[in-house]
Amino acid sequence: MIQKPKGTYDLLPEETIKYRALENHLIKLLENYGYEEIRTPIFEHSNVFHRESELSDMVVKETYNFLDKANRSLTLRPEGTAGVIRSYIENKLYANRGITKLFYLGPNFRYERPQKGRYRQFYQFGVEAIGAKSASLDAEIIALSYKIITSLNLKQVKVKINSLGDIASRTEYKKILTNYFLPYKEKLCPDCQNRITQNPIRILDCKIDQGQTFVKNAPRPLEYLTPEALAYFNDVLGYLDSMDIIYEIDDRLVRGLDYYGHTVFEVEAHIKGFGAQNILGGGGHYESLVSELGGPEISGVGVAFGMERLMQAIDAEKIVIAKEQRPDFYLLYFDETTKKAALSLLIELRDLGFKGDIDHLERSFKNQLKQAINYNPKYLIIIGEDELKEDYYTVKDVSTEQQEKLTYEQLIKKLGAVK
Ligand code: AMP
Repeated sequence: MIQKPKGTYDLLPEETIKYRALENHLIKLLENYGYEEIRTPIFEHSNVFHRESELSDMVVKETYNFLDKANRSLTLRPEGTAGVIRSYIENKLYANRGITKLFYLGPNFRYERPQKGRYRQFYQFGVEAIGAKSASLDAEIIALSYKIITSLNLKQVKVKINSLGDIASRTEYKKILTNYFLPYKEKLCPDCQNRITQNPIRILDCKIDQGQTFVKNAPRPLEYLTPEALAYFNDVLGYLDSMDIIYEIDDRLVRGLDYYGHTVFEVEAHIKGFGAQNILGGGGHYESLVSELGGPEISGVGVAFGMERLMQAIDAEKIVIAKEQRPDFYLLYFDETTKKAALSLLIELRDLGFKGDIDHLERSFKNQLKQAINYNPKYLIIIGEDELKEDYYTVKDVSTEQQEKLTYEQLIKKLGAVK
């Protein structure tokens, strides 16, 4: 038997319905906030993700890279932002609009060690507001992220927020970190030993080293913000206060990608048994990503949520968003002639927008009835010899068990009345 690749999963119909309901819920909310959907390819030229300044584990170690038949280097997207920005630049979306507000939803690929809530193909939805360096825009994205989680009725929703400052703040902070980590070099994993001089911020969220006490006690970015960066951070917090968003400053939060500057944040909810998996999404502000990918000097801010984790959270909290959609009818017949009449009615009713089905295996009436019960329709429509001869349908309301003889017009009215 051929099995699915490690770290992937199948969504069977019962689960897919729930995902679709979740997607519809999110799309409605995002559209209310003025975000429009963008769909970009799931693979991009490798240099969209593999940029000189991007040394995160996710990009360096976890991407699926391959050469196509023309020897082009391509990468399956490990995250949504870089591809969206590539498209934003290529399509010059910055040309005549102030702030471009986009959302996306689709699969990402990371070669990670699969575990509960961690897959190699997983779905993310995210939003990007591109076009301004604005504390109120950062706050709006955070407020939207908060709203996304509270709108699902998840409880004890909290935002954790930090600032990595502007380029000057980060340059100074990196210097301080390098000097701090040098004496501990031997205690760090081989990757982090290289990071000391190259990119010491990444040591703070290294999966191997982040638990070590000296890593936990490392200097914090907030201590090295320039006065301008600190003022910007305070503005973001002020806007959050004015919108009644509950947040907590987490001075150790750095997020796992190198393109962030200024505001970084995560959103969590209290979910039974979730532990550290209660972080449902995260994002932040990026100052140089657009220019690094060949666009103008434009800032953006974004957030991404893992769909699987959101769904697991909703399930764990027994929250139901998929409304039960009972089919309208099931058709029952007796022989070849009544089957043909039933098939013709089936097509007509479907054309009118009613949902229903029929048994194609020419089972006995009793077995058709069994099928019908499994299908759980609102009405059973029976077509027998008498019905054909006298031009009516026998219609049984499954909930009340009441049965009546109806003309075609009466049948349509009946089905319409319950839609
Ligand atoms: P990141 O893009 O790493 O900042 O992650 C944002 C969100 O995506 C996380 O909070 C998770 O919900 C989700 N996520 C990231 N990586 C995975 C993965 N390998 N499998 C499932 N969900 C993931």
